[in-house]
Amino acid sequence: MKKTDEQLGMNKVIARRDFIQATVLTSIGLTLPTSCLVSTNEHTLANDYYPPLKTGMRGSHDGSYETAHRLAREGIQFDNAVDTDEYYDLVVVGAGISGLTAAYEYRKKFGKESKILILDNHDDFGGHAKRNEFDQSSDTRLSWGGTMNLEYTSFGTSVLDLLAELGIDVNILHKKLEFDYGNDKPAIWFDEDTYGNNILIPGFSMYSRNEGVLDKIDEFPLSEQGIKALKAFYADDHNVLEGFSEEEIEKVLYKTSYTDFLEKYCKLPKEVIEIFIKSTDGYWGVQPHSLSVAEALSAWLPGAHRLGESASKVAGKEESEKVAMFPDGNATIARLLACSLITDLCPGADAKTIAMEKLDYSKLDVATNFTSIRLSSTVVHVKNEDDKVMVSYVKNGKTTRIRSKHSVLACYHSIIPHICPEIPSLQKNAQRYQVKHPMLVTNVLVKNSKALDKLGISGAYCPGRIHAKVFMTKGVETAGYQPDYNKDEAVPLMFWGMMEPPKRNVSIQEQLRGARMTLFEMKFKDFEREVRTVLDGLLGPAGFDVTQDILAITVNRWSHGYSYGYLDLWDEKYKEGQAPHEIARQPIGNISIANCDAAASAYTQSAIEEAFRAIDELT
Ligand SMILES: Cc1cc2nc3c(=O)[nH]c(=O)nc-3n(C[C@H](O)[C@H](O)[C@H](O)COP(=O)(O)OP(=O)(O)OC[C@H]3O[C@@H](n4cnc5c(N)ncnc54)[C@H](O)[C@@H]3O)c2cc1C
Repeated sequence: MKKTDEQLGMNKVIARRDFIQATVLTSIGLTLPTSCLVSTNEHTLANDYYPPLKTGMRGSHDGSYETAHRLAREGIQFDNAVDTDEYYDLVVVGAGISGLTAAYEYRKKFGKESKILILDNHDDFGGHAKRNEFDQSSDTRLSWGGTMNLEYTSFGTSVLDLLAELGIDVNILHKKLEFDYGNDKPAIWFDEDTYGNNILIPGFSMYSRNEGVLDKIDEFPLSEQGIKALKAFYADDHNVLEGFSEEEIEKVLYKTSYTDFLEKYCKLPKEVIEIFIKSTDGYWGVQPHSLSVAEALSAWLPGAHRLGESASKVAGKEESEKVAMFPDGNATIARLLACSLITDLCPGADAKTIAMEKLDYSKLDVATNFTSIRLSSTVVHVKNEDDKVMVSYVKNGKTTRIRSKHSVLACYHSIIPHICPEIPSLQKNAQRYQVKHPMLVTNVLVKNSKALDKLGISGAYCPGRIHAKVFMTKGVETAGYQPDYNKDEAVPLMFWGMMEPPKRNVSIQEQLRGARMTLFEMKFKDFEREVRTVLDGLLGPAGFDVTQDILAITVNRWSHGYSYGYLDLWDEKYKEGQAPHEIARQPIGNISIANCDAAASAYTQSAIEEAFRAIDELT
């Protein structure tokens, strides 16, 4: 029976450091005389400003998007900018990995004494590469709020060189990794709201075809016919492409959706197909009804065994499973980049120990430093004028104009037409094409892992819920992070997912925009209720007390998540130089364009490579 909010512990006061810290900062700012602050300019942050510890709504948090929405949605022009005498060699828009790399590379090309300002609309730097830090238990616990894997086998030399300069050894990181997204002890969990009963099936992984897995399908809350069909799908090796011409095979692999493939070729009924719908949430940020067979199989979904020899063309490659990781994900890369730009942030910062370092945010924006990172600042206008670039940004409701020699736009491309009106319309249209995928990463710190251990699971796929998957984030003990779980200590559980697009039979861009709207309209309480419901239903039978055992919740809402990469079912094969991202990233005067969007590829290596290109274009 559905539990009330009270039964779910919604009335419990759990740590919400976004509130605590906001209150502290406001009161410091309002009441202390300026001489008491360590500030050296009006933007310098207070000594205790440390956003990684904030819980509650993060990612696109309140305060980060309002100005951009007023500009892009309401057409409000912020033309009342106040000029300052600040002059920079480079102004970077966006403090994600791409923007930080652009600043790093600029210093190399133009000299260490270049004056650089990096502006970002969030209250922390790193863009998607955000650190979620918890201090609600006796030891610090870390998790990642967005960008996590270093898929280093596909890194080019320039990216590997940068990582080496930052002191990162990906091979060592990979060797130390003992984490597999809950796939080492997998489970599937059918929830009461969607399937009538809470049913946990430990040991079931939809990727696996061994016999034990087949038996478990008997426990699925499906009709008899559905169970039979699903078992036959896994058990049967019959090649559904037998007798097909090359052209017909290509059509099935690249122009048929995975769900159509399951229905038409593998004869699965709709109730069974729905179980697969959330299986690509984390990997693609697109659901299988909008992915080709090849794309779905590259994310290790089952089906290769029904394709005969053609399977070798499309199945997930083992090599791509090779990843390296930091305990706060690629936030470590953002932190190391920031530390190399601003050495006072963490004197002596070292890739081998940085995980446990608290950076000194009061040093981010200090007038005497060569590089500054200015947070909570949304850029609303960038313009070439004479031989300079004029940049206006809004911070605390005030619009300020600064000047620079060069500018790199390392922000998402879809905002560029609004902030840089001088861009030709063909290029603006190409930038608008790049609709990012809305994503959701929620970290819940729980008192211990006893309930999961008792159930014999490290994670579970939840086909009926908003977050497709929940798993423990144990086993990424690198860069000085070595929690002692033997002490029966707190552990972060990561919930991963995306919102269901309100309509499936519309263009992919409309699906992404629709899902974004739903995500955006949800409040923290909605996500809190969601994770409490899941933890209660999933772990409650093993003794987890949802009213007592949750220590903190951090929701990383990425309304603008993965960069749009071209999809088999939705995009043509563009000729070189004519793809939207190639048109979109052209430089304009002294302004060049970076960000993952510039590669149409949602990877850290792309963010880095595009920053290198953008700086090359300025030289
Ligand atoms: C949930 C999630 C998980 C991911 N996991 C991985 C992974 O495991 N491995 C991987 O390689 N990649 C992953 N990615 C992809 C990730 O996008 C890239 O790896 C990389 O972090 C992107 O860096 P970026 O600098 O290009 O963009 P971003 O990180 O988006 O940074 C751009 C910054 O510009 C800011 N900005 C935008 N407009 C303005 C404006 N007008 N004024 C000021 N600032 C502005 C943005 O708010 C943002 O902070 C993941 C992405 C998400 C969302």
